[in-house]
Amino acid sequence: MGVWACRGGVAPPWTGRGDPAPTLVFGVTRDIMKGMKFIADNMLGRLATWLRLLGYDTLYMPRAEDAELARIARAEDRILLTRDVELTRRRGLRFVLIESEMIEGQLQQLARDLRLTAQLAFSRCAVCNIVLEEAGGEQVRERVPPYVFQTQNQFRRCPRCGRVYWRGTHWARMVAQIQDALEP
Ligand SMILES: [Zn+2]
Repeated sequence: MGVWACRGGVAPPWTGRGDPAPTLVFGVTRDIMKGMKFIADNMLGRLATWLRLLGYDTLYMPRAEDAELARIARAEDRILLTRDVELTRRRGLRFVLIESEMIEGQLQQLARDLRLTAQLAFSRCAVCNIVLEEAGGEQVRERVPPYVFQTQNQFRRCPRCGRVYWRGTHWARMVAQIQDALEP
């Protein structure tokens, strides 16, 4: 399975049939896509939050210098997400140059270019970026609105910060959008 690239390079295997050329994605193999890890630049905090909600290990360090972001991306084998062309020119990086300023467009771009999925949604804390634990009963009662406690039957809790997660309506809409982006 070779490295693929777009815009003047080799098209990813799932495009064809006259699909529009995706944006720059260099050096990402399909094998790596299964366990994709990301690092987001300081303009993409909201995207980082959503990627964590989708279950993807995503670092976000708004005060880090460009050199530090690039160093961590290389050292930890993370795909750099950025809106800054200059940052993508650093050597040895795998990156996606994010096109849209809007979160919906950003997620749709990643769904299209990297085959982002919602299969592992709600497995990671959006704030701490660590894996959630199943939770229920008294563990969650104090931390969610009474209506939610009565109507939801699946909860997960962050072992670090204690936040409790459940599938709200806003979440369902976003998952639907991602699925639309995957299967237009
Ligand atoms: Zn947390």
